[in-house]
Amino acid sequence: MEKNIKCECDEIGKLKSGMESLYNKENELPFVNHKPNECKCTNDLKQYIRNGKKLWLCSCCCLSSDEEVK
Ligand SMILES: [Zn+2]
Ligand SMILES: [Zn+2]
Repeated sequence: MEKNIKCECDEIGKLKSGMESLYNKENELPFVNHKPNECKCTNDLKQYIRNGKKLWLCSCCCLSSDEEVK
C-alpha cells in the first residue's frame, strides 16, 4: 500500500439521517461530514473515475456512479 494517499473527494460530504448504520463507527462515521477536498478518511481507499478524472476515494465517498479503476 502506498503511503500518503488520501481521499480526494471534491464534494461536500454529508451524513444523511438514517444512514448512520451503513458506516463503520470507528473507520468511517467520524469522517463522513467534510468539506470538498478535506476528507480525512483513509478507509479502503481505491482509485475511481469520477467525471472523467481519476480520484482516490474512501469507502464513505465512493458513489455508485464512480467507476473503480482496476
Ligand atoms: Zn472520503
Ligand atoms: Zn467525500
